[in-house]
Amino acid sequence: MNPSYRGRIAPTPTGLLHLGHARTFFTAFCRARDAGGTLILRNEDLDPQRCRPEFTDAMYEDLRWLGISWQEGPDIHTDIGGPFAPYTQSRRRGHYLRAWRALRDQGVIYPCTCSRKDLSRIAQAPHEGAGESDEGPMYPGSCRPAAGTVADAAQYPEPAGVNWRFQVPDGESIGFEDAHFGPQRFLAGRDFGDFLVWRRDDVPAYQLAVVVDDAAMQITEVVRGADLLLSTVRQILLYRALGLEPPLWYHCPLLRDQSGQRLAKRHDALSIRSLREQGKSPQELLAEAR
Ligand code: GLU
Repeated sequence: MNPSYRGRIAPTPTGLLHLGHARTFFTAFCRARDAGGTLILRNEDLDPQRCRPEFTDAMYEDLRWLGISWQEGPDIHTDIGGPFAPYTQSRRRGHYLRAWRALRDQGVIYPCTCSRKDLSRIAQAPHEGAGESDEGPMYPGSCRPAAGTVADAAQYPEPAGVNWRFQVPDGESIGFEDAHFGPQRFLAGRDFGDFLVWRRDDVPAYQLAVVVDDAAMQITEVVRGADLLLSTVRQILLYRALGLEPPLWYHCPLLRDQSGQRLAKRHDALSIRSLREQGKSPQELLAEAR
């Protein structure tokens, strides 16, 4: 038993939760429960273009139907709240801005003016050794400041208007111990490149928001899908730059269908909601998600 264990589930309301989410979130729930710890629910609704209130409603209801309960979470809908409120990312902008300023002042992030078109051209060009990641093709560093220079903080009192990227330490190997998969190691500049921390449309990027929140909410273990292994190493760099202690990590294997395709790609057919409407019980659904 480890009553100081603090875990979290952090769904994004851009669609209905599916079988893959059921597996990850149920694992997170069990690990917090078995440790006698606390589970936090965080609503990752940062992207105003893609997040919808009806998916937020569905998210809470589906989680409860699965038998997942949490001790801290958004007070809207669930009336829970907690010592680190708000638990809804769209209401935490001040926290992300503080972190953005700290990174800007240290010169570890830089403004990037590459357009979507520039980036898609890069994606088509052959680029040796550039691993594909969940962020898309590896950024080639076109906007990186020249060696020995940093972005002029005075010129950028606010992040809006350009993309901001974290400059990764090329050639450095970043490792961590995963509680499920064992030791992990990735090479900065080969496995992943300079990644977004703030978007030109003034939305904080996932990597920054999740680190700021997991640290602020004193999360001791992050349970997430294995599709986010490379995000975890990016986040380890952000913890280091912000002088924060990273949590422990547990990545869940991804669910695949018989043809080997990731289930997440077949979102609607395998939503928790549609399986439930087909008469599945939470136990049957979770057995399928194993
Ligand atoms: N909101 C993210 C997602 O749904 C959270 C991932 C994570 O950091 O656990 O993919």
